[in-house]
Amino acid sequence: MKVRKNFLPRSFSDWISFMFIALVIPLFYWFEMFVVVVEFYPDWSFWYCSHFAFGTFIMVNTVGNLLATMFVDTSIFGAHLETLKNHAYAFCNSCQLPIPPRCWHCDICNRCILKRDHHCTFAGYCIGQLNHRYFMMFLTSLFVACCYALYLNAFYILPRVDLNIFTLFQIVTPILLVLLDGLNALKYILMMLLVLNVVGLGITGTLSYFHWKLVFKGAVSFEHNRDIRRYNFGWRNNLVCVFGTRWYLTWISPFVESTVVFNGADWDLHRVLTKTKVI
Ligand SMILES: [Zn+2]
Ligand SMILES: [Zn+2]
Repeated sequence: MKVRKNFLPRSFSDWISFMFIALVIPLFYWFEMFVVVVEFYPDWSFWYCSHFAFGTFIMVNTVGNLLATMFVDTSIFGAHLETLKNHAYAFCNSCQLPIPPRCWHCDICNRCILKRDHHCTFAGYCIGQLNHRYFMMFLTSLFVACCYALYLNAFYILPRVDLNIFTLFQIVTPILLVLLDGLNALKYILMMLLVLNVVGLGITGTLSYFHWKLVFKGAVSFEHNRDIRRYNFGWRNNLVCVFGTRWYLTWISPFVESTVVFNGADWDLHRVLTKTKVI
């Protein structure tokens, strides 16, 4: 597995998205653990430690999987050139290399991506065969984090703000808040956090549903949009294709080893699985 040398985002919108996520994750972690949880439970009590352990596990998994998505090279430059030649079916004029099936060029990354799904603006890199596992776990962890944060915020924020249509309107027009309600910065910040939490839950929930559906169908976005079902090997093999042989353990940590049996070039199911002794 190759590590990308230049992993920084390449476009302006990628930079904005990356900065946003890099700010929001630590902010919510600090708020939920060091403001909300300490309010409800005495220091070092059973529930204090349980919340702290769970919150930290989710945060570490989210950040770890995001970094792995950014660092793991899933372009054709991360694959063995010999493998590419053996399974080439087209040629990319930009990369000047033969490309295998399911490989597409990304104009932002400026390279061909193995089993390209889409360009992830938060990671500033494409999602392909070799970092698909980390992207799925990043997305799922983020969704769980949003659910968990909303559960805590419902007890902490809701009693402190009288949320109604008028206060929601004030969030998008802060000047109204100052004019009509005085300068109550704390109330405003709490409402902003709650709205951000709900919006985050809606977005990560929708994206998780969509991408998990594709994983189980064995398709990437391009194939799904054109109803290509050639690479649907059955749900279990589809999971092995994305998460590796120990797919059932990959939720624990991005560091859990799980052999990637599909190299992103050879898509002959029987040959690949026999060779790696999976069947
Ligand atoms: Zn290319
Ligand atoms: Zn890309």
